[in-house]
Amino acid sequence: MWRVLRPDAVAVLKDERARKSLGRYFAVMGGELPARFLVCKRAEVKVDLSAGDEELWRAHDRGLREFRKLLAHIDGGKARLEDLERPEPSLLDLKVELARRILKSCHFCERRCVVDRTAGKVGVCGVSERSRIASEFIHMGEEPELVPSYTIFFNGCTFKCCFCQNYDISQDPRGGVEVSPRTLARLVEAQRHDGARNVNWVGGSPTPHLHTILETLNLCEVSVPSVWNSNFYMSLEAMKLLFGTQDVYLTDFKYADDKCALKYSKVPNFFKIVARNHRLAFADSELIVRHLVLPNHIECCTRPVLEWIAENLGSMVRVNLMDQYRPEYRAHEFEELNRRLTSDEFGRALEIAREVGLENVIT
Ligand code: SF4
Repeated sequence: MWRVLRPDAVAVLKDERARKSLGRYFAVMGGELPARFLVCKRAEVKVDLSAGDEELWRAHDRGLREFRKLLAHIDGGKARLEDLERPEPSLLDLKVELARRILKSCHFCERRCVVDRTAGKVGVCGVSERSRIASEFIHMGEEPELVPSYTIFFNGCTFKCCFCQNYDISQDPRGGVEVSPRTLARLVEAQRHDGARNVNWVGGSPTPHLHTILETLNLCEVSVPSVWNSNFYMSLEAMKLLFGTQDVYLTDFKYADDKCALKYSKVPNFFKIVARNHRLAFADSELIVRHLVLPNHIECCTRPVLEWIAENLGSMVRVNLMDQYRPEYRAHEFEELNRRLTSDEFGRALEIAREVGLENVIT
């Protein structure tokens, strides 16, 4: 059992703002409500899993409506998870099947490489069909409400950020060790029994590993909050598969200017896609929005990102304004990024957060 916690990880349990924006997460963490993916396993879908793609997606949309009703019943005390049979197939079974199909013309992220990863092909991320992880451990450095967090670092990423602090993992899709969903499910169960507050899927990026993660959740029998910790460049189809499975979306809203995104992360159409996914995630579940403040990017990125968050997700959304930027990896190739953030810059970022009306900022 993890007994040694950061003081702020204890204090946050009584933090009204954190509890307001992450109410269900706290209830799942405390064992008062079941994790969403367990409810997803109890939602019935009336479809033959060998049917065509369109029919499966229609069944998925119907199943999602059933899931939402069921979730409301459970949360409202009108039904108990333990009294519900597991249907065949369940909505989560269907999601696993759809993810396997997407893998054959991969469009888990908006790069839409459309390569058949089941036939040994790889796209921009370089991730093959079988998932590899660089490490898995109890992370004590995440947001206070998340630690201790059982964090799984998948190899490979859909971005190529020049300042990536985990570049040895994100840019090495063939590194690490291969891991099966069954093994991961047993690891998650053991860590939850040992006191982990959640399972935290990260990398690199978890997005190329969505098929593995959904299958792992389908095999996992304990109630553990699931945290989707990604760059938020998922495709619309991947977002739909995530609906109903994640208790917290731990997002990463890096840029407001697409030119900055292309220059530093080699990713096109960043803002439109990432903003869309934030809206979808907010409608589906609970959110912690991260924004890494970059040197010399207060006006082009920090200000408009914070304005967008306040306008679209409201003043009470949990925001982690991060000051830990370091010029890692290839950041030295860009003069404007080749230094740490100044305290003036971070102070300015905090001021902007206040100006735009954000009331639930973790610093
Ligand atoms: S997950 Fe990888 S292969 Fe799939 S679309 Fe994204 S970059 Fe391409």
